[in-house]
Parts: sequence; structure tokens; C-alpha cells
Amino acid sequence: MALIKCPECGQDVSSTAESCIHCGYQLKEKPLEPVMVNVPSLSGFQRTFVVEYNGTEVSGKSGTTVEFSIKQPTTIRVTLKGYFGHPTIDVKPGDKVQVSIGGMGGISLAKVSMLTGNSNTHGW
Ligand SMILES: [Zn+2]
Repeated sequence: MALIKCPECGQDVSSTAESCIHCGYQLKEKPLEPVMVNVPSLSGFQRTFVVEYNGTEVSGKSGTTVEFSIKQPTTIRVTLKGYFGHPTIDVKPGDKVQVSIGGMGGISLAKVSMLTGNSNTHGW
């Protein structure tokens, strides 16, 4: 088998290895898969929500789905203007997250297999 140099630590690793045996560096790129976060339509006002992940923010309006791509499992935090709470959830590429509004105006997150709510960016 061939040896390649790890771009992170410079040591020899097998060209077939998925990660460096010396430092753990990810050698094989995993395909990017989107994570989708849906906020249902809210009566009255359209609210802005913000999804934070890996120091990045994406925002959308209630009643829509935002999607972004991650390579590694990560923790996201969701904030919805006008509602309480900044819940976090661990996601991996391909996950779908549904935001729900609690009776007291707090928000919660749940991983789902299908997104509900009215999405105007996807046909679900
Ligand atoms: Zn290495």
C-alpha cells in the first residue's frame, strides 16, 4: 500500500486510511449533506429565527426551512425572535430538525424524519 504525508502533522499514513493514525486528521472528505431546520408558520407575525452552528449563523423566517451543510456532527442552537429559549441539539449531516413552540412561548427542537409546517422553500 502507498504512503502519503498527513497534511496536518506531516507523518506517513496509509493512502487508504480514513484518518491519520498519528493525529486523527480526517483524510477522506465526507460528502456534504445538508441539515434542515424548519420553523412552522406563526399566527400574527412572521418572525426571524437564527440557527448558529460552528460559529456561523444562518437565518430564516417562520414558516420556512433553512438548510446548511456540515461535514461533522455538530451542535446547533436556535433562537426565534419574540420567543423564549435558545435550545441546542446535536445534529449530523442529513438530519432534519423541527422547531416547536411550547404553550408558554418557549421553543424546543426535535429531530424528525419528515419536516412538518408550511415550508415555502421545499415541497413538503
Ligand atoms: Zn496526522
